[in-house]
Formats: sequence, C-alpha cells, structure tokens
Amino acid sequence: MPYTYDSQNIFAKILRGEIPNSTVYESEHTLAFKDIAPSAPVHVLIIPKGPYVSFDHFSAEASDAEIVDFTRSVNEVCKISGVRMDAGNGFRAIANTGRDGVQDVPHFHLHILGGRSMGRMVTKTA
Ligand code: 5GP
Repeated sequence: MPYTYDSQNIFAKILRGEIPNSTVYESEHTLAFKDIAPSAPVHVLIIPKGPYVSFDHFSAEASDAEIVDFTRSVNEVCKISGVRMDAGNGFRAIANTGRDGVQDVPHFHLHILGGRSMGRMVTKTA
C-alpha cells in the first residue's frame, strides 16, 4: 500500500502558517518548534517541510538534500536547546510511527526530549 499524506494534518497547517507555532529553528527543508504539551523541560518537534507521513516514508522517498538538512537540524536544535552531549546532558529522540508506534500526527516528526533524566526507554512487556 502506498504512503498517503493527509494535507489537513496539524503540522501541515503549521507549515502553511495557518496555525501559530513557537519556532526553535528553521532551515530550507526543516522546521523545529516547541511541543504544545511538553513532556520534559526541553521538548522540541523537528519536522521535514516535505509531505512525509513517517520516518520510514521520509527515509525511503526524501531527497538527499532533505535528509542531510533534517539530520543537520537535529544538531542545531540540540545546540540551541542546550542538550548536546558536548555541552549538556544529552537527550532522547523519539519517532512514534503508525499504529503500533502510537503516532498521533501523520506528518513525520522527531521528538527531542531533555532537560531531565528521561528514565528507561520503554516498559518491558514484550
Ligand atoms: P505523536 O504522538 O504523533 O508522536 O506526537 C504528536 C505531538 O504533537 C504531541 O506531543 C503533541 O503534544 C504535539 N502537538 C499536537 N498538536 C500540536 C500543535 O498544534 N502545536 C504543537 N506545537 N504541538 C502539537
């Protein structure tokens, strides 16, 4: 089944400027903004500007330029947020994906969480 992108999702609306956001960093292909309901002192969402549903969709179909830009943006956001390992205490990066990954917004986004210990990654119930 092909990836289908819903252009009415909330992050598409943010990208079109239809709803406001608290921008942390912006580059040619990437936008980073504060999560509206933060789960940690640092909680930033990094999204590609292109119409990608999920991390796998992005890594399969984005251009090299988009992928490089996105990856470099992670460094910029971590630097701005003070969580880079060389200057801060680190962070957790999460990409919830699809039904099993419990992804709410169907536009690929990477959560950057930090500013406190994030605890163990997942409950061991498998
Ligand atoms: P997901 O569960 O899809 O990985 O995470 C979606 C995230 O988007 C949630 O952490 C939620 O708080 C955040 N979010 C949902 N709507 C908005 C919004 O309108 N603005 C911002 N900045 N974040 C949002």
